[in-house]
This record gives sequence, structure tokens and C-alpha cells, in this order.
Amino acid sequence: MSNLKLSTYISEENIQKKVKELGQAISAKYKGKDLVAVCILKGSFVFFSDLIRHIDSDVQCEFFGVSSYHGGMSSSGEVKVTLDLAHPIEGKDVLLVEDIVDTGLTMNYLKAAMLSRKPKSLITVTLLEKPDALKVPCEVDYVGFKIKNDFVVGYGLDYQGLYRNLPYIAQVQSLN
Ligand code: 5GP
Repeated sequence: MSNLKLSTYISEENIQKKVKELGQAISAKYKGKDLVAVCILKGSFVFFSDLIRHIDSDVQCEFFGVSSYHGGMSSSGEVKVTLDLAHPIEGKDVLLVEDIVDTGLTMNYLKAAMLSRKPKSLITVTLLEKPDALKVPCEVDYVGFKIKNDFVVGYGLDYQGLYRNLPYIAQVQSLN
């Protein structure tokens, strides 16, 4: 298919275990409250759909699209909004669900974009974080896995639009 080599980075089993733990921790935090979960497209749709099924609250789902990598392997630092929320989040308890925090620029942009809409509260969760890649301070409430500064795909994450459907996370290496 391509001259890229994929190797398993985080197994499906370990992802599912972690997602369940995150869901349980978030459920404990939101006990008895209604929640608006915001899925950041496209990368977090797989994580989002598994995570919300482990959240034991009334959850409304919203979708917010951004593009920051433009299909390559390094962040442009520029965030382009590709889809806005369909409903207001003012006065709501909001959970922002991201796939990965790399430089931190996208997460900070997203937090500011959500806070400008005056939610009652905002908490953030990311499946992956690359602490060594951060270019700006970036606080995230719940982090699934801290990983090295490697480019990964699968479980929603793509390379040039591909590999989002892998049930595990893989590292991509070019064979050239
Ligand atoms: P940041 O603004 O933190 O540099 O980048 C965040 C966005 O870049 C993520 O939402 C994701 O779309 C993309 N990204 C960052 N690191 C990776 C990676 O290792 N693999 C893939 N596929 N996308 C990444």
C-alpha cells in the first residue's frame, strides 16, 4: 500500500483498559451532573465514542472540527476551524475530548475557544500527550498515556488521511 512501516505502539487491550479507567474517573467527577462532551474532529472520534460509553452521566455529544497538521508529520502550529459546535455550551459542564497533545498549541486554542462560550465548567481529556514536544505550557485534566516524541497513527489518528481505523496505536516509520 505504501512505503511506510507500522509497528504496534500501544495495544488495543491497553487502550481499552485505559479508556475505561478514564471514563470511570470522569464519571466520579461528574456524578449526578449532565455533561456536554465535545469531540474534536477528526482525530478523537474513535477515542470519544469509546470514552462516552464508559461515562455514567447524561451525556450530550457535540462535535468541533479543527485541522492543524494538514496531513503531514509535523504540526504547523496554525489551527483552522473546520466545523463549529451545533449548540451553545453556555452554562453547561463541558468535557473537551482530544486525541493527542503535541506542541500544546491546539489544546490551548481549543480551551480558549470553549471558554469564550462561557460554559459553567470545562475539563479536558486527551488520550495521548507528548511532554517533550510541548512548545507552550498546556494543562490537561486527564491524560491517557504520556508518550515519547514519536509520530503515531491509529485509533482515530491519521497519516495523510489513512490508518484512523486501526484498533491500536502504531508508530510510523518511513522506509525511504
Ligand atoms: P499540537 O497543536 O499539540 O501540536 O497538535 C495537536 C494535533 O496534531 C492533534 O490533535 C493531532 O491531530 C495532531 N498530531 C499531533 N501529534 C500527532 C501524531 O503523533 N500523530 C498524528 N496522526 N497526529 C498528531
